Amino acid sequence: MSQGNKGKVYLVGAGPGRADLITVRGAEVLKSADCIIYDKLANPALLNYAGADAEIIHVPKRIGGRSFTQEEINKLLIEKASSGKTVVRLKGGDPCIFGRGAEEAKILAEAGIDFEIVPGVTAAIAAAEYAGIMLTDRDYSSQVVFITGHEAEGKKDTNIDWHLLAKFRGTIVFYMAMGTLQFIAEQLIKNGMKDDTAVAVIADATMPTQRTTKAALRLIADKCKQEKIEPPAIVVIGNAADSDTKLSWFMKKPLFGKSIVVTRDRRGNADFAAKIIQQGGSPIDFTTLEIKPLTQTNKFLQTLSRLPDYDWIIFTSANGVNIFFDRLRDFDKDARVFASAKIAAIGRQTANRLAEFGTRPDFVSTIFTSKDLAKQLICFTNLQGKKVLLLRSQIASNELADLLQQAGAEVDNVPIYTAVTAKSDCAWLTEKISGGAIDWLTFASPSAAKGFLEQIQADLVNSSNVKVASIGPVTSEQLKNLGVKVDVQATEHTIDGLLDAIERSEKRKT
Ligand code: SAH
Repeated sequence: MSQGNKGKVYLVGAGPGRADLITVRGAEVLKSADCIIYDKLANPALLNYAGADAEIIHVPKRIGGRSFTQEEINKLLIEKASSGKTVVRLKGGDPCIFGRGAEEAKILAEAGIDFEIVPGVTAAIAAAEYAGIMLTDRDYSSQVVFITGHEAEGKKDTNIDWHLLAKFRGTIVFYMAMGTLQFIAEQLIKNGMKDDTAVAVIADATMPTQRTTKAALRLIADKCKQEKIEPPAIVVIGNAADSDTKLSWFMKKPLFGKSIVVTRDRRGNADFAAKIIQQGGSPIDFTTLEIKPLTQTNKFLQTLSRLPDYDWIIFTSANGVNIFFDRLRDFDKDARVFASAKIAAIGRQTANRLAEFGTRPDFVSTIFTSKDLAKQLICFTNLQGKKVLLLRSQIASNELADLLQQAGAEVDNVPIYTAVTAKSDCAWLTEKISGGAIDWLTFASPSAAKGFLEQIQADLVNSSNVKVASIGPVTSEQLKNLGVKVDVQATEHTIDGLLDAIERSEKRKT
């Protein structure tokens, strides 16, 4: 083919499940894609990397609704790339391990379309390691084999060498084997493998829903049935499967498998959810607040032109920092607007966000209420006669301004955002809470508590098994006023502190 404006296709491995196991290269090409074609096993959270204008096409192969054949996917790849687009074909695990990436590469090569393969962490490796199973070990396994169980049953002309496998002195890993596990075990035993050979099955590997089941070869299929182990799952056969339970690091995390509802604004929830996933927990987004910038007002514009007049400028939250710098960008300005004014931040998180915009605060309070900031700032510097600008939420209390004024400062209080209540799917969450499917509700501000309890009944919260975690005394007070019993309160009034309080409570239980 000879047209000049040809696009390019990236065959990208999405990794085995959790979103942050994609490679750096994979994330990079996702950001640059005009069109992303992804299937069932690729974590949809990866689409957060996509640009706002990227076209997203979901191509499930079998599950309900529209189903795509491989031929249709091939056609789609050629069609999109031929129109000059940068296409990412996002596939679970590694694109070429039982993923038909090879087939796609071939048709692209034949069509003269430029392509690149971005490897991914394949399920066998991730599942084993997240279950504390070592596929190779100098003592018992110097070889590993990956096999598709899909090939196994009913295929007379199968190219699985059962007689060789049964004698294999290493680790055998089956993909797509849940439907044929009984047959696989029978074939191996029939061909001479010991029926008490160790087997481990790992389902939903790397996710908070990961499950592991172990049994002898002759019993494993029944055990999986009893325990209702569902695909996707990896089957590991051999000494490796008989691993030391001490090595099962992932499922031992204190928040492993816990369903934790996050109730902040959309962006705050995303930050919080990422931290929960790091601890093995399962975040559930229930947005209660929408942050609305107030930076279009005349008051803010006037303030902006007077920033160099201030001795101190105080940011009280990461939200405030985002909104302030978003607005600066509209005016093509940057941190130089502060001139020689000193900058203070409540808490490390606010300071870190400032740092992302190239600003290092002169002062960061270590504990995180307005009162703490005021006390610490007053100790740090003499505020007598100093001009202080407070950039913060409209719904915050006046405590901080009052305390600074009492210390002799001349305070300008400029609200740069407000939070309004946002509605989430309360029928769904009510059902989950009633059914005992939720472990924790988390509240990071009094307004989130209010927004939540406008949608979910306090009685339901109190009468169910769900536990309530609060970020600090002001939020706990609000929850109590709204009729909800607080189970744990963070010692350090930050998101990390909140998570820490939940972890400590979970550890006490075990
Ligand atoms: N290309 C993929 C494999 C696709 S075949 C890769 O490299 O991982 C689909 C099979 O992969 C599933 O049937 C299952 O055996 C395995 N698999 C994929 N994701 C998995 C997960 N999170 N946990 C366990 N097995 C998984």
